[in-house]
Amino acid sequence: MVTKMDLEELPGVGATTATKLRDAGYKEMSSVAAASASELKDAAGIGEAAANRIIIAAKESLDIRFRTGTEMLEKRKSVKKITTGSTALDDLLGGGIETQAISEFYGEFGSGKTQIVHQAAVTVQLPEDEGGLGKGVVFIDSENTFRPERIIQMAEGRGLDPEKILENIQVARAYNSADQILWAEKAAEMAQSGDIGLIIVDSLTSQFRADYVGRGTLADRQQKLNRHMHTLQRAGDLNNIAVVVTNQVMAKPDTFFGDPTAPIGGHIVGHTSTFRLYLRKSKGGKRVARLMDSPNLPDGEAIFMVTQEGIRD
Ligand code: ADP
Ligand code: MG
Repeated sequence: MVTKMDLEELPGVGATTATKLRDAGYKEMSSVAAASASELKDAAGIGEAAANRIIIAAKESLDIRFRTGTEMLEKRKSVKKITTGSTALDDLLGGGIETQAISEFYGEFGSGKTQIVHQAAVTVQLPEDEGGLGKGVVFIDSENTFRPERIIQMAEGRGLDPEKILENIQVARAYNSADQILWAEKAAEMAQSGDIGLIIVDSLTSQFRADYVGRGTLADRQQKLNRHMHTLQRAGDLNNIAVVVTNQVMAKPDTFFGDPTAPIGGHIVGHTSTFRLYLRKSKGGKRVARLMDSPNLPDGEAIFMVTQEGIRD
C-alpha cells in the first residue's frame, strides 16, 4: 500500500491541520486511514464529521478494500517462520514464529521471556533454509535487560560470527511509554527498507503499567497500548516481518482452572496478539510454553530448556 498523496490533499486538511496530525504521530496516510474518528478529532482539533471524511478519503487513497478468500490464502502463503531454537516450541507454533503476526510471550519474572527474544534476535539472521529470514532485528528494550553478552553466547552456540550478529541488531532503550511508542513508529519506518525481519518489544507492558497508575487513567492506557500494538501489527503485515512482544504477569495462586495468570494490559493486549504463549518454569530447569487461543492451531504445550547456547529442546 503506497500512496503518493500528501496529508494536505485530504478533504478539509490545510497546512495547520496537517501539521497537527503529523505532530500527533499521524505522519503517513496509512496511520490516518487506521485512526478512529475520535482519535483524529482530538489530534487535529476538528469535528467528528470532518474526521470521518478524512478517514474515508485516506482509505480510498490507499486502495483499502475487501479481499477475497483466495487473495487471503495467497497472503497466508507468503508467511514465513523463524525458529525459536527448540523443535518442540517450533512445532507448537506450527513451524516457528510467524511473520505478519504479533507473538506474545507472557509469564512470571524469570520464566524465559527475555531469553526467547534474544534467541529470536539471533535465529532471524539465519538463512531461510536454516530457520531464519536472513535479516536484521530491531530490539526495543524497556526493562534494560538486553545483553550483548548473551547474544554472543547464542551466536557462538550456533557457530555464527557474534560480531556480525550483533551488528544486525538495532537496540533502543525505551525509558517510558511515550518513548516506546516513538521507537515502535521508528521501527515500522525502518522495516520498510526490507533489511529488518523482526521487531522485538521486551517488555510491551511494563512502561505502560508504570506510566498509568490508578483507575482514572486505565482507559487512556488501553487506548495508547492498543494504538502501539496496531503500529506493530501493521509493520508486520506490510513488510512480511515478525513481531515478538513480552508481557510480565503475576501468578494468581487461587485460580485452579483455565488461565492461571492475567496478562498486564488486560484484554486489549490479549486480543491484539495473534499468538499468545504462556511460559512457566518446571522441574529440572525445564520450561513449559502453552499456546493459548490461536486462530488456526490447537492449544497445546511444549517443553524447552534455556542453556548457555540458547533455547533448546
Ligand atoms: P523473564 O521471563 O523475566 O524475561 P529471562 O528470560 O530473563 O526471564 O530468564 C532468566 C532465566 O534464564 C534465568 O533465571 C536463567 O535460568 C536463564 N538463563 C539466563 N542466562 C542463562 C545462561 N547464560 N545459561 C543458562 N540459563 C540462563
Ligand atoms: Mg525479561
